Amino acid sequence: MGEELKIACGVFAAADYKNQPIFPYIYWGLRAQNHRGHQSHGFLTFNDGKFHVHRSLDLVPKIKTNAIQEWFGRLPGNIGIGNVRYTTSGKTDEKSLIKGTQPVIASKGRLKLAVSFNGNVVNTFQVKKEINTEFQGFTYECDADLICHKLMIELLKGKDLTSAVETCMVDVDGAFSVAGVTQDGEFFAFKDPHGIRPLCAGHSENESIYAFSSETVSLDINGFKRDFELKPGEFVRVSRNGFERQELVKSERKAFCSFEFAYFARPDSHFDDRYVYEIREEFGRNLVRENPNIVKDADIILSVPETGDDPAMGVHEESGLRWERASRRHRYVTERAFLLLSRERQPTIDRKINILAPKIKGKRVIVTEDSIVRGDTTKVIVEKLRKMGAEKVYLFVTFPRIIGPCLYGIDMATYGQLIGSKHTPEEIAKIIGADAVCYQSIGGLVKATGFTRNELCTACTTGEYPTPMAQKMADTMKKRFQEGYEETGRIYEIEEAIKNT
Ligand code: SF4
Repeated sequence: MGEELKIACGVFAAADYKNQPIFPYIYWGLRAQNHRGHQSHGFLTFNDGKFHVHRSLDLVPKIKTNAIQEWFGRLPGNIGIGNVRYTTSGKTDEKSLIKGTQPVIASKGRLKLAVSFNGNVVNTFQVKKEINTEFQGFTYECDADLICHKLMIELLKGKDLTSAVETCMVDVDGAFSVAGVTQDGEFFAFKDPHGIRPLCAGHSENESIYAFSSETVSLDINGFKRDFELKPGEFVRVSRNGFERQELVKSERKAFCSFEFAYFARPDSHFDDRYVYEIREEFGRNLVRENPNIVKDADIILSVPETGDDPAMGVHEESGLRWERASRRHRYVTERAFLLLSRERQPTIDRKINILAPKIKGKRVIVTEDSIVRGDTTKVIVEKLRKMGAEKVYLFVTFPRIIGPCLYGIDMATYGQLIGSKHTPEEIAKIIGADAVCYQSIGGLVKATGFTRNELCTACTTGEYPTPMAQKMADTMKKRFQEGYEETGRIYEIEEAIKNT
């Protein structure tokens, strides 16, 4: 169910060139993307050379109809950027979370810049050092601040926005999909040269509003048409005439995060021409083709809702086995197990998912699951099925075995936390109490996405990182981990890892 995984951020930004208030569009854009970040949210609008900001912790709130005027008053203007966030850098106490809430602002003299960001900076040490030359005592709780201030110091050198973005793309190692606005109302977006995190562009039917979004669902909710996914290394500027696109930095290796397909993205979002749910169904079909003997030994399919539902459909179609819809989510119990302390995980899963025991008793069950990170959530589910009398439990996992950390914005950032970094699938099956754990092959996953191997990031399953600094850092820390070193935090925040790379 991917419950153990932490998502980085969601970006939504838009400008209305008929000068109507943009806030409602930003609001709905973020509501549609709340699955990408639960810890905090923020809106920033631009009006008459001024930025207006609202940042807060938790989910994007429901706004009552009679309160809408008040929000319009607080957030006026025709250009807006918004963000939902889950921390993949910085501290997680309340004060730090508030400080790390996006959008962020950098300013000096008359220059002012605000950005909303999804991703993760790997070479934080170098970037921070450089920022410190202009902004003494600079501290940050969120990588968006690094990107924003990096852009600002390039602007302070006298560069124009395009050149500042280009330098940022070259100097920053990591993943960054960014939307921003300047003090002059220049509205723009860009992606890192590997294009690791998603960011698409779209417009309203009457062509007065232009928008950027991490996922297409936020365009859908606003009734906008999707125009394109930003290319790796692309910078897009917006005016009343529409998008002006420029590929600033070309990289031979593209690396769109393959995990978006298995877990993060909403099933009704699409990247290029295929919906995520269709790709997940294909993952399920692949698992059947790759494990014929297990399929022969099973009676029913059970999905762990909701990311297991689409692959279950594929398993059902390919195998002909009955998909027993006996696992249901309590719709309004919304806590995500991964956000909770480990001692709270089991009762939370019990409260969230209702599995109907009579449908399981005496059955050999294939359970479809999106991924296994620590393994403790999956273990709870397997135990539950055993208690209900399941004769056999086979796990079909759509994302290949995770063997290494993600340095690009997903909070699985240590080797120690990953059950797959230390154990084979057979050992994992034993630990979690399943009869077998069957991971989809990397080749199968790549083919199902419609991308080529050279266009996807699969670093956490292969150990091959698309950016040089991340590769060096991951290799150094892997060696240390195998020697028995205990990681004290996310590897890109461990001083020793940073200094040795
Ligand atoms: S390392 Fe894994 S989770 Fe991170 S960007 Fe690459 S594929 Fe996605």
